[in-house]
Amino acid sequence: MGRIRVLSDVVANKIAAGEVVERPASVVKELLENSLDAGSTRIRIETEAGGRRLIRITDNGCGMLRDDALLAFERHATSKLSDVKDLLSIATLGFRGEALPSIASVSRLTLETRSPDETTGTLVEIAGGKILRCEEAALAMGTVITVRDLFFNVPARKKFLRSEQTELAHIAQLATHYSLAYPDKAFELRHQNSELLHVTPVSIMRDRVFQVFGSQIVSELVEMPEVSREIKIDEVDEKDTRFFRLRGFVSRPQIQKSNRNSIYLFVNGRLIRDRLLMHALSAAYANLIPPSSFPFALLFLDCSPEEVDVNVHPSKTEVRFRRSSFVHDFVRDGIREVLMASRPVSSLPLAQPPAQAGAGLPYSEFSQRMEDHRYREHVPAAPVEGGPAAALPEFRLDPPAVPAVSGRLDFSNAPPLAENAVPPPTPPPKLRNVPDTHGPLPPGLMSEPATSLEALRDLRPIGQLHDSFIIAAGNDGLWIVDQHVAHERILFEKVLTAMAAGEVEKQQLLIPIMLELSAPQQVEFARISAELEMAGFEIEPFGPRTLAVKAAPADVSTAEVEKVVFEILEIAEQEMRRESFEDIRRNMAASIACRAAIKINTPLDLPRMQWMLDRLAETQFPMSCPHGRPIALRYPTREILRGFHRI
Ligand code: ADP
Ligand code: MG
Repeated sequence: MGRIRVLSDVVANKIAAGEVVERPASVVKELLENSLDAGSTRIRIETEAGGRRLIRITDNGCGMLRDDALLAFERHATSKLSDVKDLLSIATLGFRGEALPSIASVSRLTLETRSPDETTGTLVEIAGGKILRCEEAALAMGTVITVRDLFFNVPARKKFLRSEQTELAHIAQLATHYSLAYPDKAFELRHQNSELLHVTPVSIMRDRVFQVFGSQIVSELVEMPEVSREIKIDEVDEKDTRFFRLRGFVSRPQIQKSNRNSIYLFVNGRLIRDRLLMHALSAAYANLIPPSSFPFALLFLDCSPEEVDVNVHPSKTEVRFRRSSFVHDFVRDGIREVLMASRPVSSLPLAQPPAQAGAGLPYSEFSQRMEDHRYREHVPAAPVEGGPAAALPEFRLDPPAVPAVSGRLDFSNAPPLAENAVPPPTPPPKLRNVPDTHGPLPPGLMSEPATSLEALRDLRPIGQLHDSFIIAAGNDGLWIVDQHVAHERILFEKVLTAMAAGEVEKQQLLIPIMLELSAPQQVEFARISAELEMAGFEIEPFGPRTLAVKAAPADVSTAEVEKVVFEILEIAEQEMRRESFEDIRRNMAASIACRAAIKINTPLDLPRMQWMLDRLAETQFPMSCPHGRPIALRYPTREILRGFHRI
């Protein structure tokens, strides 16, 4: 007697119905889950053309008996539950008996399967839901399901599929996720001739994380010791308890991701997206990372099956907890505790401490930064002179003709500045001549984000505030310019223009930088490698999941190269749903610009400030940084005059 039964209408109707097959990745998900439910320990996924042309999953699980092989394609035929009350405590990944018939109705599917209880296997061939063949075959134990030409008979669906790389990225993400949830099983993912993932069974979670993400990520994560709680739901019946267990890995707060793609949540081994758990995670990181950032997290929550309803969403990616606020707090506190134990506070990447006066930013470091931005050829190195007082640039309303920081850097012997020539100081503007085109400010507001482009051309730096903001005199008032975002804007436009013209300046790295990529990152890399090249990177594959970065955009310092590449891959992942490379290109330029721009807490001398203001004036959009932050604030002359009761 077979193991598969067709569910009665009563049960079938209670199942969250809906479309199971949305895209190639949903086929992979269903087939993977079936293989896992079948107790397989080795699962291989092969794909072609992003899964549209071919998806083949080979497992070594329990296989299907001959009678079951055909029955599996009936709607609501499953070996996993039989009764309505089973729905209340589902322990398998599948339970609806919908996947195989759905997939078979929109593709050309071949099933080859043999159970250890039978000596021969069964081959079933179905196309567009019609059974073409069903015969005995000599097969190895386990199951092979081959899905070809997905949506061949549903052109409308096919039209909505994204590019091959995008579909493949989704598949890679899925395979990665499941390989993390089942470290004791072997997973292999191939796309045409390339191997994207190949992990052998390991006994501890950390080893699997290492296999999938590489050593860098492992070192950034904190492993959570398992936390568990039992609750008695019946005071009388001692045995009627429910358990909750949480384990996994979370990133130290220094690691901040710009999207949720590095958050992996599993409930009873099932990969899910869940708002409640997501919220618990952010609550655990509250005040440790900025609200717009996300951690890396790999969380496994296991609980009594009765405590979680998995039957709420057609693709089984959402769950509902019976005790939601308990679960929320349990998860939040569990994570918070490990974060506290790993003492994140001292290592928090708060703003760099302001450079101390005098001791200040060591000159070597300062000049190194300058070198990174290619000021060096114009500035001969000079030792820092004097003690604390001497190093403090004075803020003076009437700036001296010589740079205020000339005590530190001697420009007298400097070669003439070629492209970045410093113009002779312009005479202070005459207050009387200054028209205030901006009208009065709202009461109480002293400065406003600057909006006028024209005025920028006449800015004359006076000094620096906190080594971070350039104070400048303009025809229309006093300006405060954020040096980091200003430089970011300058570089952003420069990079974009150079990319468009194919004239990006590169630097060859003396020693190539090796990067280890996860499977989804490899797919992303393949998708955007031409864009990366346009931006000035030379990156070559080096071993199965390692890349060697041989050259990088000239503006990016070597220390930042790795971060920029990963940031760009992350951006690409985020933009995955969109096909246009335009956004990726802009974001890529923004990322390069941000990493290359001088930081705050960097002392600048007047010529450099002037250089910055001049370049800023030449940009197309000098008023906000690529991320939308304002670059300059203006204190209009009219307000100054009013403040001194002169008008
Ligand atoms: P469900 O997983 O919800 O039961 P499916 O349509 O995905 O429904 O699969 C139907 C049945 O086919 C399963 O219940 C299982 O008995 C059998 N089956 C599917 N895939 C496999 C596999 N890889 N190995 C063994 N049995 C399988
Ligand atoms: Mg299934």
